[in-house]
Amino acid sequence: DLVVALPAAVKLLAVSKGRSAAEIRALHALGQRSFGESRVQEAALKQQELADLSDIDWQFIGRLQANKVRPVLKAFKAIHAVDSFNLAQRISRIAGELELCPQLYLQLKLRPDANKAGLSWAEAQSLWPQLQSLPDVHWQGVMVIPPRELSEQGLSALFAEAVSHATALGLPGRSMGMSGDWRLAAQQGSTVVRVGSALFGSD
Ligand SMILES: *Cc1c(COP(=O)(O)O)cnc(C)c1O
Repeated sequence: DLVVALPAAVKLLAVSKGRSAAEIRALHALGQRSFGESRVQEAALKQQELADLSDIDWQFIGRLQANKVRPVLKAFKAIHAVDSFNLAQRISRIAGELELCPQLYLQLKLRPDANKAGLSWAEAQSLWPQLQSLPDVHWQGVMVIPPRELSEQGLSALFAEAVSHATALGLPGRSMGMSGDWRLAAQQGSTVVRVGSALFGSD
């Protein structure tokens, strides 16, 4: 079982996109506090329904559009998929206006993948001085989503690479691992696995 098998150093982010408020409430009753959502409007409805659960730690894991930055900052403490300097700069500016300091993960794309966003390692390295100097954000770590077709070996290599890149940037966080690969990610040094279907059941 997932919760039992996770090392203590790895946090479980329960990905509740597509799940009902009742399902989230049931998991909360079992002690889960961190929930990941990827659609702003869907999340807002559930957050309203669950407003009595004031200790939920909501984290945004989806692709963040520029016009959604403000509502996301108001409703989420962490953003996992920051994939450009422009987006990071906008987050910092609006966070400053709102007097917030969100936790950010820099999304890296370490393998070719037409369906995924993220900075290459070369881009991340060259942008890092500017990213790091943004005033109203707290860089927590790096985040990766592997391409679907990778073997176990390929996944392990990718996760190990993400860990070494986080270390090179001086970041403690590694947001990696989903239902299909959270064990491998945890073995390689994930600090937060984002797990949906393995936790809630398949749709
Ligand atoms: C949906 C999603 C997950 C969870 O996926 P599962 O395979 O259901 O565990 C994790 N991370 C991101 C970015 C997602 O969009």
